[in-house]
Amino acid sequence: MRTTCPYCGVGCQVEPEVQGGRIIRVLAPDIPPNHGALCVKGRFGLDFPFSKKRLLYPMVRESRNVPFRRATWEEALDFAAEKLLEALRRKGPEGLAVFPSAKTTNEEVYLAQKLARALLGTHNVDHCSRLCHSSSTAALSRSLGGASMTNPLEDIWKTDLFLVVGSNTTETHPVIAAMIKKRVRQGARMVVVDPRYTGMAEAATLWLRVRPGTDLFLLNAMARYILEAGLWDRAYVEARTEGFAEWQASLEEYTLERAEAITGVEREKIALAARLYATTERAGAYWAMGVTQHTKGTATAQALVNLALLTGKVGKEGAGLNPLRGQNNVQGAGDMGALPDVYPGYLKVAEEAARKRFEALWGVPLNPKPGLRMTEVFEAIPEVEAIYLIGEDPVTSEPHQDHLKAKLSSLPFLIVQDILENETTPFAHVVFPAASFLEKEGTFTNTDRRVQRVRRLLDPPGEARPDWWITQELGRRLAQALGRPWRVYPGPEGIWEEVRQAIPELMGGITYARLEEEGVRWPCPHEDHPGEAVLFRERFNTPSGRARFFPAPYAPPAEPPSEDYPFTLSTGRVLFHWHGGTLSRNSRLQEAYPELKVEVNPKDAARLGLQDGEPIYVVSRRGRIRAKAWVTERTPEGVVYAPFHFAEAPANRLTLDALDPISRIPEYKVSAVRLEKVD
Ligand code: SF4
Repeated sequence: MRTTCPYCGVGCQVEPEVQGGRIIRVLAPDIPPNHGALCVKGRFGLDFPFSKKRLLYPMVRESRNVPFRRATWEEALDFAAEKLLEALRRKGPEGLAVFPSAKTTNEEVYLAQKLARALLGTHNVDHCSRLCHSSSTAALSRSLGGASMTNPLEDIWKTDLFLVVGSNTTETHPVIAAMIKKRVRQGARMVVVDPRYTGMAEAATLWLRVRPGTDLFLLNAMARYILEAGLWDRAYVEARTEGFAEWQASLEEYTLERAEAITGVEREKIALAARLYATTERAGAYWAMGVTQHTKGTATAQALVNLALLTGKVGKEGAGLNPLRGQNNVQGAGDMGALPDVYPGYLKVAEEAARKRFEALWGVPLNPKPGLRMTEVFEAIPEVEAIYLIGEDPVTSEPHQDHLKAKLSSLPFLIVQDILENETTPFAHVVFPAASFLEKEGTFTNTDRRVQRVRRLLDPPGEARPDWWITQELGRRLAQALGRPWRVYPGPEGIWEEVRQAIPELMGGITYARLEEEGVRWPCPHEDHPGEAVLFRERFNTPSGRARFFPAPYAPPAEPPSEDYPFTLSTGRVLFHWHGGTLSRNSRLQEAYPELKVEVNPKDAARLGLQDGEPIYVVSRRGRIRAKAWVTERTPEGVVYAPFHFAEAPANRLTLDALDPISRIPEYKVSAVRLEKVD
C-alpha cells in the first residue's frame, strides 16, 4: 500500500511491502514527486518502527527522583491533564507551552495547536522549524506574504540556472539533488555557494567557497553589482515591488573588493555569479540551513529575496525562491499553525479578523497576544511551568546542550510523546507512546506544498496510539475541567474536514478522496481547482499586492575563532541519518554510518599531526565531545564539520546559543572550537 516517506521534505511516495509484521522491501510508484526514485533513507531506513526502543506503554512519575511506573491510558491522561491544569491555575496561559511535531501528520499538528489555543489559552506553540527555516519564514512572510517554495519541484525541468546557497542537497534532499544534477547534465548551469565541497559543489558550473557566515555579504555584493551593471529588471521592480530606494541605499558598502576580503571568494567569481543569475530568465534560488542557521539568518534569507525581486524572478516558471524544507511535514506544521504568532493558514494571532474566525470555529474566546518561540520558552523555564512535547528531542537538537539540560531539570512538568525513547525522555514526568507513520492515517505536506496521504499498514505495537488520539483524549479531559467545547473526531479525516473549514482559501478543495491517486498542492480553494503550482504570478500576498525589499545588513558571526579556539565548527547532516537520529539510528542505516566523524582539512590535520580515522576531542567554550577525524578536502582549512545525529557524541554540546534577533534561530553554523588529540 502506498504511503509517504517519513524522513525528508521531498515527500517521496513509497510502497513498503510488509510480511509477517516486517518490511521486506520498499518500492516506489511512478507518480510525483519522486516518480519511482528513492534515496537510501526511503529504501532501507523505514524499519525504525520495529526497534526495541519503541515506547509501548504510558508511563508516569510524580517527580524525577523516582523511576517511571507503567500506567493505564486513563491514569496517564488524567494525571497529565491534572498537572497541566495546576500549571494553568498557578501561572496562567503563559506558563504552558505545546510543541507539536513536524514528524506527525497535519491532522495531529492541527489538533495539538488547537488544544494549546482553545483550551489552555496560550500561543506558546512552536515546532522544529524554529531551528531550521524560521529565518526563511520571517523573510519570505514580510516580503512576499507567504512562507513556502514559490515554485513546484517539476519546475526544475524548466530551470536554466540554479543558485544553490547553503544546501547540501545531495545528502539532505537526495531526490531533489538528483533532479537538479540531471537538469545540469541536460545543459542548465548551477552556481553553488558553500564553504564545503559538497556533492552540489562537485556538480556546479561555478562554486563559490565562502567563509562560513559570510554569504550575506556575498549576496548583497551580487545585488550591488547587478545594479551597477544595469542588469536588473526595472520594469518588474517598478510594477511589482516597494521599498526599493531605501534598500538600494543600504548597499553602499557591499563592493566586490570588500566582498572578496570578507568572504574569501575572488571578486571575478562573485561578478560572474551575479551576471549569470541576473541574465538567465529562468533562474531559481534554492537554499537550506547554510543560509538560515545564523545570527543573521533572516537577513541572509532576505538578501536572497531581494536578489530575486531585483532580477524579476518571482512569479515565473522555472525560477522563484525555493527554501528546501527539512522534515517530512515541516511545511505542514507551519501551515497548520504550529507557530506562536499565527493560526492555521498563517493568519496572524494579533489580527482581529483572524482571531474572530477561529473564535467562531472553536466556540471559545482566544488570547490576542502572540506566544513565545521555542528557544524563548526554554529560557523562560521555570516561569513556563509545563511543556507538552510531541515527537521532538530538544536535548539532541537544541544548541548548548548542557544549558538546555539544566533548564529541563528545573521544569516542573514535562510530557514527552514519541514513538521511541530519546535523549529528552529521561526529563519527562509523563511518557505517551505514539504510533509511527506505518500505523496511522493522515496527511503530510512536502516541501513544494503537496498534501499527500499517510496510510496505516500495521497495528501499533503494545499500547501505542496515534498522536491525534492521544491529543484528543487529553483535550477531552481539559475541556471537561475547564467547561470549554472540544470536538471529538472518529478519525483523522474528520480533523482534516475541520482544517478545510478553517482555511478554505488554502485547503478548501483538498479532500481525502482527491488524495487517493496522488497529492494536491495548496493553495487549492475549491474541489475543481488543480492546486496552484507557481505562487505570486499576478500579485503578492501583501496588503498592497507588491513585494517589499528590506535592507539586510551584514554583521560577522557571534563567536569568531580565537587563539584558544582557532577553528570554526559547522554542524549539519549526513546522507544516512536524519536530524536528531531518533529514527535513522534505530533503523538499518545505523550499520552504514554508525558513529560520529568530524571532517578536518588535510592541512590542518598535518599541522596537528592527525591521521585519518584517529580519535580526537572537539572542544568549545561549552563542552567537549570525542569523535573520529575524517581528513578530507570537503571542508576548508580552519573549518571542521560535525553532523549532529549522534547522542553519545552530541555536536550540540559544542554549539553556541546566540540567536537571530528576528527568527530566534540559533547560530549552529559557526562556533569556535579547538581540536585535541586523544592520549
Ligand atoms: Fe525519503 Fe527524502 Fe529520501 Fe525521498 S529523498 S526517500 S523523502 S528521505
